[in-house]
Amino acid sequence: MKKPVFWLLLAALCLFSLAPAWAAEGAPLPQERELTQWEMDCLALPNSRPDRLDRYAAWAAKYPEAALETVVAQVNLDQDRTVYQDVQAAADPDSTAVLVNKHYALAQDYAPELEALGWPYGSGSLRPEAARAFRAMADAARAEGISLRSVSAYRSYQHQSTTYNRYLRYNRQATVDTFSARPGHSEHQTGLALDINAANVAARFERTPAYVWLQAHCAEYGFILRYMEGKESITGYRFEPWHYRYVGAEAAKACMEQGIAYEEYLALLPNPAPAQEEEPAPEAVPEPAPEVLPEPAPFPIFSGAPVEL
Ligand SMILES: [Zn+2]
Repeated sequence: MKKPVFWLLLAALCLFSLAPAWAAEGAPLPQERELTQWEMDCLALPNSRPDRLDRYAAWAAKYPEAALETVVAQVNLDQDRTVYQDVQAAADPDSTAVLVNKHYALAQDYAPELEALGWPYGSGSLRPEAARAFRAMADAARAEGISLRSVSAYRSYQHQSTTYNRYLRYNRQATVDTFSARPGHSEHQTGLALDINAANVAARFERTPAYVWLQAHCAEYGFILRYMEGKESITGYRFEPWHYRYVGAEAAKACMEQGIAYEEYLALLPNPAPAQEEEPAPEAVPEPAPEVLPEPAPFPIFSGAPVEL
């Protein structure tokens, strides 16, 4: 009679010892240890990401004076990483919100759905939503006597490779990297970016009425000036007054009104809510997914004087 009791007890003990593993399953954090108060404060920030906790801690150790918000923002900006090292695959390449820069790359064979801009909008193709937005923007500009034409839009990985390597024949790589993207890292491969009217410094595009018009109106059409003056350490590129990127009207408005780089906008975005397990009611009409990202709070670190609206 005693043996079955022994085995039952043993089985119960085994189950009990597994309980912490069950509890950890599905938890947002890889650690099973107890979080420190600092880590909990960190995770309480809306834009902190649990998978970056180790990087936040490393940055805080390096800059002990930095405020928690600064630590999270700097790491979210990948300021703790060296460009072109430990490159990550760009998340969700087909999203109009995709981030492609010196830390996040597109696959060699990635090509978006494309639509030719057509006459009189200049050369090249963009993704359909970006092409429509550019035509609408160019039409509105033309009505005010401003001509906006694409001189370069979508570029394939191979095209970018040829372009980048051509520059390398005449310049040091460190110099080329300030104005030309390595293949896989070009926004032009997303089909969401284009160069308007010019694509070189000598054109002084920033002194033209077209540039002034774009500063005032591009966000209305979902475009942003992607490589701003003074943001080189964040974007990785020198000022390119001719390069515009389609991100959708809401994100564009936030970037252009606050004068922040797209990386800064994304670094401040609150994390998406955890996925719900509940099944939707069968009769319910599904809500359309929002096409644009929520507007973040003004960026606390890099902005100088706030932009006057
Ligand atoms: Zn460009």
